[in-house]
Amino acid sequence: MPELPEVETVRRGLIPAMEGQIIAKATVNRPDLRWPFPSNMAERLTGKRVLRLRRRSKYILVDLDSDETALIHLGMSGRMLVSGDPLGQFVHDHPAPEKHDHVVLDMANGARITFNDPRRFGAMDLFETGSGDAHPLLAPLGPEPLGNTFDENYLIAALADRNTPMKSALLDQKTIAGLGNIYVCEALFRSKIHPTRPARRVSKERISRLVPIIRDVLTDAIEAGGSSLRDFRQTDGELGYFQHSFDVYGREGEPCRSSGCASMIRRIVQSGRSTFYCPTCQR
Ligand SMILES: [Zn+2]
Repeated sequence: MPELPEVETVRRGLIPAMEGQIIAKATVNRPDLRWPFPSNMAERLTGKRVLRLRRRSKYILVDLDSDETALIHLGMSGRMLVSGDPLGQFVHDHPAPEKHDHVVLDMANGARITFNDPRRFGAMDLFETGSGDAHPLLAPLGPEPLGNTFDENYLIAALADRNTPMKSALLDQKTIAGLGNIYVCEALFRSKIHPTRPARRVSKERISRLVPIIRDVLTDAIEAGGSSLRDFRQTDGELGYFQHSFDVYGREGEPCRSSGCASMIRRIVQSGRSTFYCPTCQR
């Protein structure tokens, strides 16, 4: 499932093909993904110029010159393919149409963006750009972890009375937007906080240290995504998934990487999701 760094990588990969360009033709091959597409979506996209690609949490926001914004969510299995860019950034020919190519955007510059999603948990919507954060998917979201309003004072206040385990508190999208399972595990490991510790029982000092750690974990992953972006132009044109090494995630039974620690990484299940942690380093 793509997390914030993957979505940011997709956004950055789409910019050269889309930003400033006109959508010559939008093709919508089915009425819905997770939810129904907005009415007349193909017509509302066709002929519009893309002013800007933004990201909020795990949503890509495409501002159009029609004062509408297209929201794209990759869901569980969604992927974006870029082909045929005449600028030479993407050397791929247009691929043969595939079964799960649900939305295809042919840009006036010759680039084609294909949104493929076999499991159809993804989503697309259109909303008035000016209404911004009133969109039902955006309204409940807390601050961006890489944004200015996410800081030590905010996080201390947000966690102060929470009796929920740290892992769950950080996964709560009202607390921080876009932080998912993998990067919460990594951030808790780096900050040496035990994932089951109730949030209100973590000291202010440790929560303060967690803020730059969350930022670093995400920034490192975005940088890894940036490297994959340079590679993908030589491979298959698909955006969004990249190899990245984790300290704890997916490493159950493997040795802890902290120097001097002889423990093995453990996996437990919290709220139905796997948590990976070091029982010695994290308290
Ligand atoms: Zn350890």
